[in-house]
Amino acid sequence: MTKMTKHNYLRIIPLGGLSEVGRNMMLLEYQGKILIIDAGFRLPEEDMPGIDYIVPNVSYLKEKQKNILGIIFTHGHYDHIGAVPYLLEKVWQPNFEIFASLLTKGIILKRQEDFSHQPKLDITEVRDGSKVQLGPFRVEFFRQNHNIPDNLGLFIETPVGNILHTSDFKFDSNPVNDLPTNFQKLRNFSKRKVLLIMADSTGAEEEGHSLSEADISKNLDQIFQKATGRIIAATFSSLINRIQQIISLSEKYERKVVVEGYSMKTNVEISKVLGYIKAKKGTIINVKEITNYPDSRITILCTGAQGEGQAVLMRITNREHRFIRLKRSDTVIFSSSVIPGNERTVQIMKDEILRQKTKVFHYKMMDIHAGGHAQREELKELIRIMRPKFFLPIHGQYSMLVSHAELVREMGLPEKNIAIAENGQIINLNQKRIFIERETVPSNYIMVDGLGIGDVGEIVLRDRQMLAKDGMFVVVAIIDKTTGKVKGSPDIISRGFVYLRESKELLRETRKMVISIVNLAVGSGGAVNWSYVKDEIRNKTGQFLFSKTQRRPMILPVVIEV
Ligand SMILES: [Zn+2]
Repeated sequence: MTKMTKHNYLRIIPLGGLSEVGRNMMLLEYQGKILIIDAGFRLPEEDMPGIDYIVPNVSYLKEKQKNILGIIFTHGHYDHIGAVPYLLEKVWQPNFEIFASLLTKGIILKRQEDFSHQPKLDITEVRDGSKVQLGPFRVEFFRQNHNIPDNLGLFIETPVGNILHTSDFKFDSNPVNDLPTNFQKLRNFSKRKVLLIMADSTGAEEEGHSLSEADISKNLDQIFQKATGRIIAATFSSLINRIQQIISLSEKYERKVVVEGYSMKTNVEISKVLGYIKAKKGTIINVKEITNYPDSRITILCTGAQGEGQAVLMRITNREHRFIRLKRSDTVIFSSSVIPGNERTVQIMKDEILRQKTKVFHYKMMDIHAGGHAQREELKELIRIMRPKFFLPIHGQYSMLVSHAELVREMGLPEKNIAIAENGQIINLNQKRIFIERETVPSNYIMVDGLGIGDVGEIVLRDRQMLAKDGMFVVVAIIDKTTGKVKGSPDIISRGFVYLRESKELLRETRKMVISIVNLAVGSGGAVNWSYVKDEIRNKTGQFLFSKTQRRPMILPVVIEV
């Protein structure tokens, strides 16, 4: 292929969100000009100690800042907006154009208050029907139902043809605080010819139709009806619809609502101000007022449905919460985790709640990923309406993408018109074909530790995993400058490796080994290479301890000359 023809392809580059649930970020690139869609994070897996969240690798965008046309946000879930502070740190330029709906904008700006050193963001508000021209792209926003209000799909006119990006979505004829799906609008897009559809795959392995938000309310209502004591509902702070349902049901059953958890509080606050959460005056009370009401009049709305260590539900379960302890009469409702690798943490927490004799409803329909995404019947309906020429499944684990592609193939789209891509791959598109380039861009995990934007590299993570698994072992050798020999016996400090008092023999042998390594190095007479000595201590001690214990603690040699 000549350079010229390649130049006329639209390049679609997912930096996150394909082959995983979360961390959604996608680039559309035409003749070097780049449009960014979403910038989200995902939560860490269980074997990533101390990691707060994971963001997309944006190194492809470095040095290309002047070619970035702008960034568009589809909705306010953290797996679509959570990487904003990171993006600001890495590639931001003050002239960047940003587009988001009213609620999405509110959530982004509220979160930016935690990053006060960063530049103020100027976000242009868009809504159903807004149109924006960005370089070669003309973006038309349209309302899509999901489990958060103000979610926007994208109809994008590009030089190669029209592209439809569904955002996360479901078809809902009975939503809460929202209008039902506008099928006429979708049909009108179809009339304008859809070259490519990029559609949410999160629900592609689920048969049938997703529940409407009204059905979810009905199910929740039954739990409320039966509860005699307090209701403790743990959910995601960005699941605005679910929060609204819990508040409305609490009002129906004359319960006061206590909102606990930092992100939950801020999201409720911002959504109330913008009118996306409606609560009667006096419904929401402070946690300190909880004892002014009988248990049957209290709902506690909190974070921690994923089993997150510092979240409210975990603190209540572990008796570490300042005001709330579990009672036998309580009913705990929480959503299941679909983030692979977190199931065990949730299971342990559930068991611990049951041990305290409290009722638990593990209500899957409260889940951010189970309740809000189109399932197979809806996905078929979407294809029937849109009749796209090409198809690219987005948002979901690899199996979900494959399942979605299979469904579309069964509906008659030829296999060569469907691309199953993963993060970092480059999808090329023109009027005639879609294909994935051999070349890729970096898309590995960037791990973020704490509120600071400092990345945690893989080496740091490996160290943490090592410490968590086999502990650490510090050897302190004091060298007498005048003789060059080890003074006395080396000190050994260890944590999480073996119980030192019961390992006297092991320690004695280790000390002997360290002494002989040092004496051998010093004995040669000339200048001593201490970093070599430390490496020797680390390697030999490591091998020795492994041969004795089958464990590999992190070994930290300290050599001090006195
Ligand atoms: Zn979402």
